[in-house]
This record gives sequence, structure tokens and C-alpha cells, in this order.
Amino acid sequence: MSFANEQFLYVLILFGMIVIIPYLVLCFAPLKVLEPWKSVVSKDKSIIRPLLLSLSTLAIIYGVFLLGSLVKFQQDLPTWYLVLSVPMVIFIHDAYFYWTHYLMHKSKFLYRFHKHHHQSGDTTPLDAFAFHPVEAFIHFIFFVIYPVIIPTSLEIMQFMFLWMLICNSAGHLPYEFYPKFLYDFPIIRQFNTATHHHMHHQYYNSNFSLYYNWWDRWMNTNQKSYFMRFQEVKEKTHSILKKGLHPSG
Ligand SMILES: [Zn+2]
Repeated sequence: MSFANEQFLYVLILFGMIVIIPYLVLCFAPLKVLEPWKSVVSKDKSIIRPLLLSLSTLAIIYGVFLLGSLVKFQQDLPTWYLVLSVPMVIFIHDAYFYWTHYLMHKSKFLYRFHKHHHQSGDTTPLDAFAFHPVEAFIHFIFFVIYPVIIPTSLEIMQFMFLWMLICNSAGHLPYEFYPKFLYDFPIIRQFNTATHHHMHHQYYNSNFSLYYNWWDRWMNTNQKSYFMRFQEVKEKTHSILKKGLHPSG
């Protein structure tokens, strides 16, 4: 099997497991047990638009893999370098995503492509890949540029793709599963939550970061009410769960 076909098969399997299955199970199955974690009332159940955009994104990814077959991945990198490569590639991709996303909002020319992703007010995991082809190319060309500039192995890039898809799908969930303690102490306010990305879809001009809350804090682009909103969502969850445990109380 060619390099592009092999990598594309890997992406299709991940897409099915991390996007399609959670979308169908969490957004359509009547799972009463999950109700307390529902942070957003998902009114937008349209499947055709995000599905068509996702299919075009998959086509772009295949094109990127055709380019990727020209890249020379390293095979004999020392273990210490591979271990260091994981936080390094995540940090660099976090910066790449923040700045490209920020520019897509600040440039009128680029926003005409990004606005297709923002057509979903209430997001679902299916929005993880719901991009205009130009935006999809901007996002996924990273997987070709990075190994050209920084020596890396194919396995590191495959891990990066897996990490990106998990965080992207989780960020678009209409549920807030992240624990409250993540934001109880400013020093451990690291990971972005589903509430963070929902607020981005609601306000447009803030909360641009993907994995970690660092860039939004460094650039002062966190939505002002974000930490408060996250606490409110978690307190609502806690109170519903408490009532469920003690219905007479
Ligand atoms: Zn955006």
C-alpha cells in the first residue's frame, strides 16, 4: 500500500472512532445518564452540512498525504529525542493552531473560509472536521511542514494527529466532562474545556486556542467570563447530580 493510502486509512479509522461514533452515541442516543453534563442544548442536529464539509476535509487530508510521501521521516532518532518530541510537537502545533485561527478571525479574506466552521452555533464532534477546503489545507499542511523543518519520526506525527483529533472532537462536545478542579487553581488552568470552545462559537472574537489555555492567557484573548462560565456549568452538573442522589432534598 502506498504511503498516502496507508496514512489515509489510519485517519479514516480514527475519524470513525473519535468523531462518528461519539457523534452518533452522544448526540442522538437518548442517554439520560449523561444529561447532567450537558452544557449546551444542541438544537443544531443537521448532519448533511458538517458531513459534506468533513468529507471535503478528508479529501484535502489525502492530498496532504500525497505531498507527505515526499517527506523523509527519521528512523533512527535517539529515545531521549523521541520522548522530548511529544511535548515539543504538541506545543508547536498549539502555537500554529492559535495563530492561524486568530488570523482567520482577524483577516476578512481568511474569515470568508473560516465562517463555514462557525455555521454551527451548537457544536458536535462532527464539527471537528467541518472546514472549508482552504481552511482544511491551512490546518493539515502542518503535518507536512513540521517534519520538513524539524527531524521527527512518522510515529510522532501519527500520535500528533491522534491527539489533535481527540482534543478537537472533545472540544466540540455539547457536554462538559472536564473536572472542576482543572480551573479551581490558576496555576493548573492548563487544558481547554468544551465550554471554552463553545464560547468561541458564541462570541467569535475570543478563545482561539486548541489544547491549552496558554496562548489565550498570554495574548489576553480569553473571553472575560470564561472561568466563571466554566464554574457555573460545573456547579449546575453538581447540583443536578446531588438532586438525583437525594430526590427528596
Ligand atoms: Zn473560529
